[in-house]
Amino acid sequence: MIYKELFPSNLRSIEIDSPVSDDELKSRNLEYDNLTPKKFNTLRTKNAFKSVTFKYKGIIHEIQFNACTNPLCKNYGLPQERFEIKSKPYRYKISGSSRDAHFINCNPERVDLTSPPIDKCSTTAISNWSVAEEIERLIRINSLLPVTKEYDFHKPVCPNEHHTPKSNLNAFYKRGKNSANSQRYQCKTCKKITSVLPNKNENLKFNQKRNEVLPTFAKLLVNKVPINRACEILEIAKGTYYQKLEWLYRCCLEFLETHETKKLAKTEFPEMWITTDKLHYVLNNVLKKGRGRNRGTAIEDKQLPTYIVASADKDSRYVFRSDLCFDWDISLEDIVSNTKIYKDDHLAGYLRRYERFGRYGVSPIVPTLNDTQTRAEYMKDLEQFDLRSNFVDGLHVGQTYTSIAHFWLIKKLVKVKKWRFISDEDDSLKKSIFSVFKEEIKIKNGHYFLCLTDKNLTRKQAKDLYLQSISELKHWAKAKGYTYRNLEELAVWYLEEELKKHQFQERNVAPNSEIYYKQLRNRIDHPIPSKDRGNRKLDVITDLNHLTEYQLASALVRVNDNAINAFFQTVRRRLSILERPLVTARGDGKSYIYANFNPKYSQMAITILRTYYNFCLTFKTNGKNQTPAQRLGIASKVYSWGDIIYKR
Ligand SMILES: [Zn+2]
Ligand SMILES: [Zn+2]
Ligand SMILES: [Zn+2]
Repeated sequence: MIYKELFPSNLRSIEIDSPVSDDELKSRNLEYDNLTPKKFNTLRTKNAFKSVTFKYKGIIHEIQFNACTNPLCKNYGLPQERFEIKSKPYRYKISGSSRDAHFINCNPERVDLTSPPIDKCSTTAISNWSVAEEIERLIRINSLLPVTKEYDFHKPVCPNEHHTPKSNLNAFYKRGKNSANSQRYQCKTCKKITSVLPNKNENLKFNQKRNEVLPTFAKLLVNKVPINRACEILEIAKGTYYQKLEWLYRCCLEFLETHETKKLAKTEFPEMWITTDKLHYVLNNVLKKGRGRNRGTAIEDKQLPTYIVASADKDSRYVFRSDLCFDWDISLEDIVSNTKIYKDDHLAGYLRRYERFGRYGVSPIVPTLNDTQTRAEYMKDLEQFDLRSNFVDGLHVGQTYTSIAHFWLIKKLVKVKKWRFISDEDDSLKKSIFSVFKEEIKIKNGHYFLCLTDKNLTRKQAKDLYLQSISELKHWAKAKGYTYRNLEELAVWYLEEELKKHQFQERNVAPNSEIYYKQLRNRIDHPIPSKDRGNRKLDVITDLNHLTEYQLASALVRVNDNAINAFFQTVRRRLSILERPLVTARGDGKSYIYANFNPKYSQMAITILRTYYNFCLTFKTNGKNQTPAQRLGIASKVYSWGDIIYKR
């Protein structure tokens, strides 16, 4: 008998090989008290460039993201190396201080001085271990665990102990069903009564109280009906609401396993344009019940912007992932015990296991004899750390960590020959894409475009801009005497001409006559603005200098962020769960934390919506009314809630 449950948070979805060996742990224990934090760390800095390995779907994966992330630099993506010349210089050096972020910097070219010089590249140092931990989290929260129930139908000394209701029903009495719809069997010999859980279908119909409400529940959820109203309509209690949410989430995960993961594994795409953006909402970090205001509040913590990073295919609008940068399973106690074991409070962030939690990645520890931290500083740190426990459980994850894990998993999910990326100016997205897709970008199978829109325009202003630009474009065509089939064709010609006098990157020639490029911040306007958001500024941030102006213009005309924008619009229009909850200021100075503050439910809701959006919601272009999944080619029909819930 097999049924599936959400992957338990106390189990690991992948096995990460600890980068800290037993020997290393011993030396850390010995040296922690005897060395200054600086010395303690210096002995270990080189480990920044050590890869972390883990097993996922039967394959051993290795990740190492501390390398140059500038695709125009000849160090791009290369590992740390020491050159066998005078003074034995390294490719990279690490800069930064223990209190702040550390950076990986490219050292100047020393080996061949006639070759292209190396820029002063600088990128934030990353903890590879913490990235692996974030990958583990994202896999875990999107996984179901098949649970095989082993039933023991007999008392320890029953002569019929080898009989089961399946092998010999005659050895048992049927004793009806209990309230959870479990069939009860009693052994005729030893008289033991065993309840057998119903199978999935029966379960769905009867096991949960009032489960016929699930399809209606789903509709209310994606139609922005507030929780209180939904409870009223469905005549269910608030607690039941979250049970239903979890149940529906489980149905979606099971549906996605069959209709997304398995289908995508069988499909190969010659080219894929991925558009990525982040949605941010304010997680009201109100005080927990019973934690009075007078205990002191870390004001800065009260309203934490919480990010959701999502990526969609530009053409089909299929949304591959949507990940909340928040870990609701981590506790401050976990951090404390981890810090005590690994002593990583005296290590730089890039060596810490929980660096993805930023300032909460290690707990303050009483200063050692050789410590450079004073007792007073420690007390202050401790106070800050403890304050966090008054607020919502779990911790925010640094956007770069969630983004790297997000792209790493997309790369494993979708088989693509040529990757194209579109985002706005966002350092953590750029770093993530340049890190995860370094092999593809290096061999020019991956390219990256920026698409910047003015987010402050009203619809009217945007529309006016659109109309104005279109008329200018037509005017230009008329002056040139061009006849054209459509606006897009015209836009390509226009851009082709513009590109003759435009440079995204500066061309240079090294003494050995090798050509190299430097990124400029020189954007170009898309000739056709977006109807609802106005002008788009475009940039190319990978090496596309081998293309002709016509080829580049043809690529640039296709750059837009409509796909991801449409999904976020849908999220805002359809989910009430991400809206800022109303908190009343109460006379006694206490606020109450509601379950909808739990980011776990936001993640569930957004995944449910993503499933519905991809498989059930159609949109019309070029005369076809299809869902994103149909357009992507992994579905042949429009699915309904019934299909998702009952797995029809
Ligand atoms: Zn570099
Ligand atoms: Zn028995
Ligand atoms: Zn210390």
